[in-house]
Amino acid sequence: MKSTLKIILSLLLLSSNIGLAQKSDDIVNQIVAEANGNSQLEILAHELMDIVGPRLVGTPQMKAANDWAIATYRKWGIEAINEEWGTWRGWERGITHIDLVSPRVTTLQGMQLAWSPGTKKKGVTAEMIILPLVQYSIAFKNWLSNVKGKFVMVSMKQPTGRPDNNWEEFATEDSFEKMKKEREEQIHSWRQRIRNTGYSSRTINKVLENAGAVGIVQSRWSNGFGVNKIFSANTDKIPVIDLSLEDYGMLYRMTENGAQPKIKVIAESKELGVVPTFNTIATIPGNELPNEYIILSAHFDSWDGATGATDNGTGTITMMEAARILKKVYPNPKRTIIVGHWGSEEQGLNGSRAFVEDHPEIVEGLQAAFNQDNGTGRVVNLSGQGFLHAYDYLGRWLESVPESITDHIKTNFPGTPGGGGSDYASFVAAGAPAFSLSSLSWSYWNYTWHTNLDTYDKIVFDYVRNNAILTAILAYKASEDPEKTSRVKSVLPLDKRTGEQRTWPNPRSPNRKGGQ
Ligand SMILES: [Zn+2]
Repeated sequence: MKSTLKIILSLLLLSSNIGLAQKSDDIVNQIVAEANGNSQLEILAHELMDIVGPRLVGTPQMKAANDWAIATYRKWGIEAINEEWGTWRGWERGITHIDLVSPRVTTLQGMQLAWSPGTKKKGVTAEMIILPLVQYSIAFKNWLSNVKGKFVMVSMKQPTGRPDNNWEEFATEDSFEKMKKEREEQIHSWRQRIRNTGYSSRTINKVLENAGAVGIVQSRWSNGFGVNKIFSANTDKIPVIDLSLEDYGMLYRMTENGAQPKIKVIAESKELGVVPTFNTIATIPGNELPNEYIILSAHFDSWDGATGATDNGTGTITMMEAARILKKVYPNPKRTIIVGHWGSEEQGLNGSRAFVEDHPEIVEGLQAAFNQDNGTGRVVNLSGQGFLHAYDYLGRWLESVPESITDHIKTNFPGTPGGGGSDYASFVAAGAPAFSLSSLSWSYWNYTWHTNLDTYDKIVFDYVRNNAILTAILAYKASEDPEKTSRVKSVLPLDKRTGEQRTWPNPRSPNRKGGQ
C-alpha cells in the first residue's frame, strides 16, 4: 500500500514535470513554427527599405519610418508610441544628377552627401581643379584664388578599383606587393598634401567654399567593387558630391593631363528648419512583474547613401518580427517586453542615451536588453559585457534555443563592457544588463556599412529569421526567469596599451540639438 502510493505520487510528480517542460517547450516550438511558417520579414524589409527608404536623422523619411512602425505594431495589436527626445537640423535629400559635359558627354555615378546644400534648379557647370601639392600653407593661401568658379577635387586618385581579395586571387605575389607599396606611398603623400595646406580634411571644404569654389568633389572608396562610403557634407552654400572610384579617377586623369573636363551637377536638397526627433517604443505589458523589463533593441536611423538595409534595417526587422511572434504565442509575458527603435545612433547613440537618461525606472528594472546592429549574418558572438554572473542567466536561456542556432554562437563570459559601437553600450554604461547579438559580417565593413550599396538585395533572410527566433526565445526565457538578473560587475582586466586597470564606461548624455 505504502509503496503503491509512493509510485502513484512519483508518477504524478513525473507527469506534472513533463507537463511543465512540455508547456515551456511548447512556446519555444511555437516561436520556431511561427517564424518559419508565417515569416513577415520579407514584407517588413520591403516596406522599410523600398517604400520608406533611407532614415537619416532629421529627414521626413525618418519620421515616415517612425510612423510606419507604429502602424505596423498596431496591426499586430501591440501598443507603440513615438517618444520625442530632442530636435535636429531638418533636411531632405532630392535628386543628384552629375554629367561630364566636356570633352565628351556621359552621365557620372555619384551623389551629394548628407546635409549637402543644393544647387540652383538648372545646376552648376564648371571645370575641375585638383587640390595642389604645396610646401607651405602660405603657398596654399596664394593658390586659393584659383578655385573661384571651379569644382575642387579633394580625394586621392586610387591606383586600383579592384579589392585586395581580387588581386590576391589573380595577381602574382610580386605585383600585388608592388601595388600595395605604391598605394601606401600615395596615401601617405596625399595626407601630406592636405597637411601642407595648413588645414585638415575636415576643415578644408569650408576654406574652399569661402574662396569661391562652386562645389567639392570627393571619392571615398570603401575597398570593394563599386562601393563608396557616403557620410556628410560640411559646407554651408556649395554642394559636396561623392563620385564612384572610376568616374573620379577619370576626371582626375583628364584634369592632370590638361583635358579641362567640365561637369554639370544638379543637386536638389531642402533645408527644413529644426524638427523633432523620436524613438519608437513598442510595449507588451508584463503580467506578474510589469516593472521589470526585457528590451529588444535596434537603432532605427541609417546613413542615406542607400537604404540602410543591413545598418540597421536587418536589426530593426529582427526585433519587430520577434515582437510580433511573441505577441502571438506569448501574449501575456511575466515581465514587460519593450522594443526600442532608437533614433540617431549614427551620430553617437543619441536616441538610446536619451532613453536611458529619461527612463531611470526602466533602466533600474531591466532584466536584459538584446541589441542587434552589425548586419544580416547569423548571430555568432555573445559577450557577457563584463557582468560577472551573465554566464548563469544567459547560459540558462540559451539552453532553450535550438542547437541549429546556438551551435554557431561563441560565448565570452564575463567579457568586457562595450564602451560604444551600438546602443547596448548606453545601457551597459548605466550598469544595466544589455547584450549585443553580434552577427557574421557578410562583408559588412567594406560593402554595406555606411555605403551606397546597403540595399535590400544584401539581406540574407534565412539568417535574419535565425536571429528573430533567437531573440524571441531569449526574450521569452528572460521574461519567465524566476530570478532578476544580477548586475554584479567583474573586475576588469588591465588595459594592454596603458598597463592600467580598465574602468567601467561612464554614461554619456545624448546630443539633443543635432546639427543646429
Ligand atoms: Zn548601425
